[in-house]
Amino acid sequence: MKKNLITLKEINKKNILKIIIKNENISRINIAKFFKISRPTISTYINELISEGLIIEAGKGLSTPSGGKKATLLKFNCKAGYIITISIGTNLLKFAITDLGANIIKSTTVPTEEWLGPQTIIEKLLDNINELIIKTKINKKKIFGIGIKGPGLIDSDKGVVIFFPNLTDWKNINLSEIIESKTGIPVYIDNVCRILAIAEKKFGIAQDIRNFVVVLTGPGIGTGVFIDNKLFSGNKGIAGEVGHIITDLDSNKLCHCGNYGCLETLCSSRVLIENIKEDLKKGEKSSLKENQEFGFDDLPGLFKDNDALVVKHVTENANLLGIGISNILKMFNPELVVIHGKFLAFGEKYLDILKEAVSKSTFPKVKDDYNIQFTKLPEECGLVGTAIFAFEKIFKLDNLNISDEYMVRKDF
Ligand SMILES: [Zn+2]
Repeated sequence: MKKNLITLKEINKKNILKIIIKNENISRINIAKFFKISRPTISTYINELISEGLIIEAGKGLSTPSGGKKATLLKFNCKAGYIITISIGTNLLKFAITDLGANIIKSTTVPTEEWLGPQTIIEKLLDNINELIIKTKINKKKIFGIGIKGPGLIDSDKGVVIFFPNLTDWKNINLSEIIESKTGIPVYIDNVCRILAIAEKKFGIAQDIRNFVVVLTGPGIGTGVFIDNKLFSGNKGIAGEVGHIITDLDSNKLCHCGNYGCLETLCSSRVLIENIKEDLKKGEKSSLKENQEFGFDDLPGLFKDNDALVVKHVTENANLLGIGISNILKMFNPELVVIHGKFLAFGEKYLDILKEAVSKSTFPKVKDDYNIQFTKLPEECGLVGTAIFAFEKIFKLDNLNISDEYMVRKDF
C-alpha cells in the first residue's frame, strides 16, 4: 500500500470530515466530543473545511435543555465534487459521472468485445473518460476519483487486475496505475460482485442485514460477501469466489481459471446455451431449431412458455446453482442471499426451483433460516455502487483512526 506523507492537522481534518459524513446534521459541540483537541482548534479546522466547500451549514438544531442558543448543524456537501464511475463488462463498457452523493449526472454505454484485449479496452476507457469530462464541462480538479468495477479477480488494495476470466489477456494488469497516470485522477478498482454487495448494503434489500451474500449470475458466477456489516475481503481481496469451487470432481470441463469442474463450468449462462445446443443436435424437441442462431435473451420467454428442452436445462441450471448457494450458506451462514444478473429474467419460477434445490442440499436436520431473493435494485445499481465504493475509498470511511498507511510528517 502507498505511504502518504500527511500532517497531524490533515489527519484531524479528514477525521472531522468523516464524522460529518457519517452523522449528517451534526453540531460543532457534538463533533468536538469525538476528539481530544481543543474546541477552538476544531472550530478552525471546520471553518477551513467550509471554505474548501466540503461542508455546509444545514440549519439550526434544538436549543440546549438549559434554554441556550440553538446550535448550527453541519453536513457534507455532496455537490463539492464529482466521481467518474466505470463498469467493465464482457460486451459493454458503462460510464457515468456522479456527484459525491452518487447521483448520476451523465452516463454513456459503449459496446466492446471480450477478445479485444487490455490495450484496446484501456484506450476506450481513457477516450470515454475524456469525453465525459468535456461533455459535462466539469473542472477536472473537482473530480475526486475514478471508480472501476471489473468482472474477475482484482487486488483492490494494489489496484491490480489479477485475472478477468472472460476477457482475453487480462492478467496481472495494474489498471489503477495506468488510468491514474494518464488522467491524473486517483483510481479505485474492485470486483463487480463486491460492488453489488456494497450497493445492496447502501440502498438495497440488505440495508439492515449484517450477514449477506450477493450472487451474480451470467457468463460467470461470482459472489460478494458481507460479514458483520463489513465487506469480506480475505488476504488479497478475492475471498468468496464461489463460482470456482470445484463442484464436479469427475468433470472434464476446463474452467477459464485453469481448473476442471468449477461451479461456473456447470451453471453459467454460456454453459446453459451450450447444453441446449448439444441436445438440439441430438434431435431433442424444442421450438428452437438446430441451425437457428439464438442467444441467452431468447431463453426466458421460452422458459415461461414451457418449452420442454429449455425448461429441462434451466431447471438443471437452477439445481446446480442451488448446490453452489447451499455451499455459500454452509461457509458464511448469511441471513440473506441476493441474486443478481442474467438469471433474474427467468422470473419467480426460477427462484422457486433454486430455493427447492438449496433446501435439499443444506443441513437436513436444521430448520431453514435463510432468505433467498432477487435484487430489487435497478440496472444502474452497478455504476451507483461503484461511485459509493470510490467515495468510501476517497474519504477512507472504513477507517476512522490514524492508520499505518500514513506517515505523520514532523514539520507541521
Ligand atoms: Zn474456475
